[in-house]
Amino acid sequence: MIAQVIVDVAAKSVDRTFDYLVPEDLQEVIQPGVRVLVPFGPRKIQGYVMHLVSDDETEIELNRLKPIYEVKDIQPELTEELVKLSEWYSHYFVAKRISVLEAMLPSAVKAKYTKAFEIVDAEAIPEMLLQRFDKEGRYAYKAAQQNEDVASLLNLLKRGAVKEVTILSQHTSKKTQRAVRVIRPDLGDSMLLDLEKRPKQYDVLAFLLDERHRDVTLHELKEIGFSTSAINTLERNGFIEKYDAIVKRDPYAGRVFEQETKRALTDEQRVAYEAINEAVAAQQAKTFLLHGVTGSGKTEVYLQIIDQVLERNQEAMMLVPEIALTPQMVQRFKSRFGDEVAVLHSGLSHGERYDEWQKIRDGRARVSVGARSSVFAPFKNLGMIIIDEEHEATYKQEDYPRYHAKDIAEWRCRYHHCPLVLGSATPSLESYARATKDVYTLLSMPTRVNQQPLPKIKIRDMREELANGNRSIFSEDLAEAIETRLDKREQIVLFLNRRGYASFMLCRDCGHVPQCPNCDISMTYHKTTDELKCHYCGHHEPAPFQCPSCGSEHIRQMGTGTQRVEELIQARFPTARIIRMDVDTTSKKGSHEKLLKDFGEGKGDILLGTQMIAKGLDFPNITLVGVLNADTMLNLPDFRSSERTYQILTQVAGRAGRHEKQGEVIIQTYNPDHYAIQDVQANDYLAFYNKEMTVRQLAKYPPYFYLINFTITHEKMKEALKAASHVHQILLQHLTDKAFILGPAPAALSRINNEFRFQILLKYKSEPGLIDALRYLEDYYHERYEQEKLALRIDIGPYMMM
Ligand code: ADP
Ligand code: ZN
Ligand code: ZN
Repeated sequence: MIAQVIVDVAAKSVDRTFDYLVPEDLQEVIQPGVRVLVPFGPRKIQGYVMHLVSDDETEIELNRLKPIYEVKDIQPELTEELVKLSEWYSHYFVAKRISVLEAMLPSAVKAKYTKAFEIVDAEAIPEMLLQRFDKEGRYAYKAAQQNEDVASLLNLLKRGAVKEVTILSQHTSKKTQRAVRVIRPDLGDSMLLDLEKRPKQYDVLAFLLDERHRDVTLHELKEIGFSTSAINTLERNGFIEKYDAIVKRDPYAGRVFEQETKRALTDEQRVAYEAINEAVAAQQAKTFLLHGVTGSGKTEVYLQIIDQVLERNQEAMMLVPEIALTPQMVQRFKSRFGDEVAVLHSGLSHGERYDEWQKIRDGRARVSVGARSSVFAPFKNLGMIIIDEEHEATYKQEDYPRYHAKDIAEWRCRYHHCPLVLGSATPSLESYARATKDVYTLLSMPTRVNQQPLPKIKIRDMREELANGNRSIFSEDLAEAIETRLDKREQIVLFLNRRGYASFMLCRDCGHVPQCPNCDISMTYHKTTDELKCHYCGHHEPAPFQCPSCGSEHIRQMGTGTQRVEELIQARFPTARIIRMDVDTTSKKGSHEKLLKDFGEGKGDILLGTQMIAKGLDFPNITLVGVLNADTMLNLPDFRSSERTYQILTQVAGRAGRHEKQGEVIIQTYNPDHYAIQDVQANDYLAFYNKEMTVRQLAKYPPYFYLINFTITHEKMKEALKAASHVHQILLQHLTDKAFILGPAPAALSRINNEFRFQILLKYKSEPGLIDALRYLEDYYHERYEQEKLALRIDIGPYMMM
């Protein structure tokens, strides 16, 4: 047999499979998807087996092939489907196959290399040095570097006294816990007879003999209330034994999830449910756009269809923008489907993630809930994929190898012949446009489940407030509304649009704003450390007392960060208990969930936060939502700024009055006439959609045109510009005159970390020569990056335009 292998070298010249001979003794264990160690030039490296070809099917001269050294996996980490997917992915998103494979696997699977020296001739090694080798006769390269022994070791290497070895470690150490089991369960009944006079021991043994209690830990036994001395006596008398059981790290273990029951669907829900269910039953790879206002019961529809999918012995995948932001969602899934649910997200440790991944691969979990990368979960029999909040930008992977989870999900649905459900209260323009053209099937749920009207939305013009002499961050109306809620002991959510709202320093005499010395961008002022920081390169310096430009002492902090806003709220409402949620207060693992829980339990009156409080929050006592600054996002140089403003405001507004109590929303803005804000007030998605579509058409943006953003960076401006012109030339050569190639122009962030950045924006509809051009550019600049750090970033379907 011959194995076609993708090797772990991310260079252009090796972005294809290589043939290796499968030795006799490995024929049994080798399968597509396993990782192998193979010779590659003088090196021994890791690779992934993509295909197996029997030797009579090929023309290749077998004696010219090198054999595979070693198979790393007993079971393949990659399913056959994922192997195929990697091929399409690397082609479609123009990325190296090896990078794609690595991106698809959880990081714990990716074996790490450790180089070490190994003893060949112990006699030739000085005693001092010999002590440092471990009992396997190895001395890690890293440790040798730290001990400054490398030079002497290299000397020994030359003389053949040691050799170089590569150790692959998986870093997935299994956690164990003391557990208890019956030594001879087959003798159970007669043993119990012996113990009739010893009720405490009898109870323990009877419990352990029950099939369902085979994996019980010592800790659990004690928790249930069995006596320690009875357990120990049983052990001494040879009835039971203690052992180390491997713990399946379930990050949600130990928590009690109340069993949630199905609800009778409303008419709107039923229509959606039946349409999707029909596609599940008919095994149709159809895409649905479920457009339902916040609180219309989308999640309930998902849950009930998943139930049906499981009934059919199939599996279901649910993607959410960010798990940490939706603990309530996870809870609902867990309480419906219990252990069948695998939860995948970046907050898990490598080991935990690997456990969840294996649960799916081995069929122990048939439902997954996870963020973007869980779209690669190794299901074998998918019955449906759901992407909740489908408009969210987090579904786009911004780092190489880039992808959009929606494209991957569509591919997998075609492969499995199953439906894809895109859910949102504010669909992306791209998706809604497809629905109007019947590429997607539109399902609408325009009313809330409990018939509760959507909250009343007021807009306050902050320019007017200022004209009336109100210089505070609260309009009169909002201040009053907060006061009322505090009196009534109802809860308040205050939303601060994070984007473009950090605080900075400004000289009142000359207008100077301190810039980062490496990047052309203003630095952010951090009060806790009294420092200026650059968020792009990490540069920081003490805040100046004097203007660096004119020497004036009138240099002040401007703008308002969350921390400052918290102080302002506290000053205005001294009795209010405030819970602040932002990057600073939620950086610790689990802290996000804890803050939300506190708020849910009424330990706070006001929840103040940035984007992260907009989603998933479902608390009955919230009756007021205040948006402090609606428009900071409107002014960003990004064609989606109106769409994002509409989406985030609609989402935040949806947090109010979700249950019995009527909700109120107050939006403060300097652009009260902007259609994005007006249409939020009217809760009129279609009106917004139609206006925004006109804007997009005129400016040739998606969904009318596809976009590719090319960013070229180098530390020398001239080099970067030269390369940008080259990229431009290549595009001109390959594309028709129907494509628009804009630039090269300096990027909106024209210099980051001392590197100059130029951009070319390509707008096109259908270009047969495009993929060749992209391939060529990717390969060409891959090499130039290796040689001279000249980088080209090809962003297909960009979400960040800066
Ligand atoms: P969405 O995901 O559209 O925001 P949810 O599915 O979270 O809406 O539903 C909103 C609230 O209504 C939840 O508290 C949910 O438990 C409840 N709910 C959903 N469907 C029903 C139903 N058919 N009957 C009663 N309550 C429902
Ligand atoms: Zn100045
Ligand atoms: Zn910087």
